Amino acid sequence: MAKQEIQDYIIDPNVYVCDPVPQETPDQNRIYPFYDHLREGRLTTTRCKDCGHIMWPPRIVCPECISDNLEWEDFPPTGKIYAFTVQVGGVPPGFKAPLVYALIDFDNGIRIISPLVDTDPDDVAVGKEVVLKVVDAPRDRVLFFFKLK
Ligand SMILES: [Zn+2]
Repeated sequence: MAKQEIQDYIIDPNVYVCDPVPQETPDQNRIYPFYDHLREGRLTTTRCKDCGHIMWPPRIVCPECISDNLEWEDFPPTGKIYAFTVQVGGVPPGFKAPLVYALIDFDNGIRIISPLVDTDPDDVAVGKEVVLKVVDAPRDRVLFFFKLK
């Protein structure tokens, strides 16, 4: 029996190519203003105008009261590292080791987990301040990370 090749199982190998970057346009994503705000250098999320709940990630319906009466709100300009870890091997494609992941607390009560970029792991400590870092992604999209202030 001949050795089986991947072409024996699929029609087009490209159907299995994964694009991990979110679709960021109005026809593909109902929270697309989030990405427009990132392009302006602003990290935002949604707040419920009926009950006041601030949610993360941004949503189109409040998880507390099921209202869709939401508004966009900016994050505070800095967050503080609550905890962090350093990954030295097996990092995701496109990233370079070592990679620092941090839990970041903001004064609005939101805690975000994110990689820290442009950051020497030896400089990271609990309590240090971080700021937003927006990075261009393929096909006119953006991703967000944080870096030490
Ligand atoms: Zn609500």
